[in-house]
Amino acid sequence: MEQKQFQAESQRLLDMMIHSIYTHKEIFLRELISNASDAIDKLYFQSLTDDGVQMNKSDFCITIAADRDARTLTLTDNGIGMTRKELEEHLGTIANSGSLQFKKENSLSEDNQIIGQFGVGFYSAFMVAKRVTVRSLAFGEAQGYVWQSEGVEGYTIDTCDKDTVGTEIILEMLDDIEADEDGNGGENYSEFLDQYRLQSLVKRYSDYIRFPIKMDMTKSRKKEDSDEYEEYIENVTLNSMVPLWHKNKNEISEDEYNEFYKDKCGDYTEPLCHMHVRNEGTITYDALLYIPSHAPFNYYSKDYEKGLQLYTNGVLIMDRCEDLLPDYFSFVKGLVDSEDLSLNISREMLQHDAQLRQIARSIERTIKNELKRMMKNNREKYEQFYQAFGLQLKYGIYQDYGMHKDLLQDLLLFPSSHEGKLTSLQEYIDRMPEGQDKIYYAAGESIARIELLPQTEQVKDKGYEILYFTENVDEFAIRMMQTYQEKAFQSVLDSKLDLETDEEKKTLEEKQEASKDLLEVMQKTLEGKVGSVKLSGRLKSHPVCLSSEGDLSMEMAKTLNAMPSSEGGQVQANTVLELNPNHEIYQKLMDLQASDAEQLAEYAKLLYDQALLIAGMPVEDPVAFSNRICKLM
Ligand code: ADP
Ligand code: MG
Repeated sequence: MEQKQFQAESQRLLDMMIHSIYTHKEIFLRELISNASDAIDKLYFQSLTDDGVQMNKSDFCITIAADRDARTLTLTDNGIGMTRKELEEHLGTIANSGSLQFKKENSLSEDNQIIGQFGVGFYSAFMVAKRVTVRSLAFGEAQGYVWQSEGVEGYTIDTCDKDTVGTEIILEMLDDIEADEDGNGGENYSEFLDQYRLQSLVKRYSDYIRFPIKMDMTKSRKKEDSDEYEEYIENVTLNSMVPLWHKNKNEISEDEYNEFYKDKCGDYTEPLCHMHVRNEGTITYDALLYIPSHAPFNYYSKDYEKGLQLYTNGVLIMDRCEDLLPDYFSFVKGLVDSEDLSLNISREMLQHDAQLRQIARSIERTIKNELKRMMKNNREKYEQFYQAFGLQLKYGIYQDYGMHKDLLQDLLLFPSSHEGKLTSLQEYIDRMPEGQDKIYYAAGESIARIELLPQTEQVKDKGYEILYFTENVDEFAIRMMQTYQEKAFQSVLDSKLDLETDEEKKTLEEKQEASKDLLEVMQKTLEGKVGSVKLSGRLKSHPVCLSSEGDLSMEMAKTLNAMPSSEGGQVQANTVLELNPNHEIYQKLMDLQASDAEQLAEYAKLLYDQALLIAGMPVEDPVAFSNRICKLM
């Protein structure tokens, strides 16, 4: 028996390795299983050319056994095993990866998926074990060897009796540490001896290892013809082995896709659709993506966390890789599996963002195309999607100074005056009558409120369709877009709509000239409340309406002022009180302007409050408003 020391640097390195590379100590199981899988892969590779390997593919397996009394966890594989030299080189030297070497020396077939590359994963065992014993018989050797270590101090190697090829790793678990009074500092290692915990860890990290991972599980069942229960042992295969996304699409039923979603994505309802892609461009990856049928309860809050699962070679690397999804598609669930990724040493991150960005861009295109297809071929489904996530698309347009508009604008839908249905911008354009050169919209609290707005009458009379913006973000998003297919967006609540004929304009100008004094008095009375008072050519049944001029609409001002950050600094739209010269009220005002200035002032204020109410804005002084009405009555 020979005693060897780690070199001083190695000791420090090992200490770092054990305590700072990994965020979760539970990944030790993933690492040991991955090593076992690699060992089997290597022996399988050997069997392709070597008749000496007496194994069928179906004989290969990995076994886990937990002994709670002895506090040991044992992992066994019937892979290639390690010679004495290999034990020393691969387990005794940090960052020496026999697997990486193997990959370099052998041109591997598609069938081989060696996972190891860094030569550190093994040491993660010391995060949970006080002593690790490795018993191994290498293929083609007669003598087995045992390697044993308690971590930093070094290791021993000796001969041992082992008559089956492969490796057995025995972890003697650390003792649990009780938490202090405040509940801090506690460590639980016994959990890794619990069969259900082990089962769920295998499911989580190693579900797609291609060889069966087996464990004897103690279960209980009712005895026959009796009310008593008995315990029995069942040998359970813990992993599902074949990743659904590696199967052929036509071999997977809709049900299988849906079950997988419900199982993996934590949703109990069926998804709206799935996307199964195999990309073989500059970067090779598989992806299985889903769009949920409803928004999670916290979707539109800060608590929602977007991301896709990231696998490489069937091993889970990241549970939620945020960088794979842009915010506007944050509702998508699923996973990406790629062999082309360069991982960082802990396998918790990627080394090169460029690869990730490439995958993300390609995924983004996939999602967009799927949504476009759905919109075209299954409108009902698309509207269901839009109900749940349309708001997010609009935020996407508004975000980043509108740089995603080309990607997202074709996915938008708005309610409109056309048969009260949701319409896309393209459909709106397709319906535009000759002579219409703008896309008209009106913003308001609800469709019903918008339809009552006086300003919509004239536009509808001209035969123009109006998009209804009922969500706060709508107008902001559209202003970011500015145009769609070179057609400008135009709010019908803007005072400069300019839909009158030349003749109408001429008559209006004449009347405006005649009412100069009236308008001046009214404007003075309403100073600080409205920017200007004007005669309007577009009103039919209403005496007045309130419009705005310039970049900031009344609805936008309302939204901005309602934001917590706006406190103190309120913004104001530049408003215009429009007066209908064909309404009898107008004549009344003209009369008063000559006879009773005081009364005129009262009426001006009253009309202004009316205009506010119709526009869906709060009256500034409800009591004064009410008093004026009472006086009138
Ligand atoms: P990596 O897997 O990244 O190479 P590890 O630290 O996990 O690094 O393992 C180091 C090396 O030890 C492996 O490359 C492999 O050569 C060897 N090894 C580890 N576990 C086993 C095993 N169960 N059977 C055979 N060889 C193993
Ligand atoms: Mg490894």
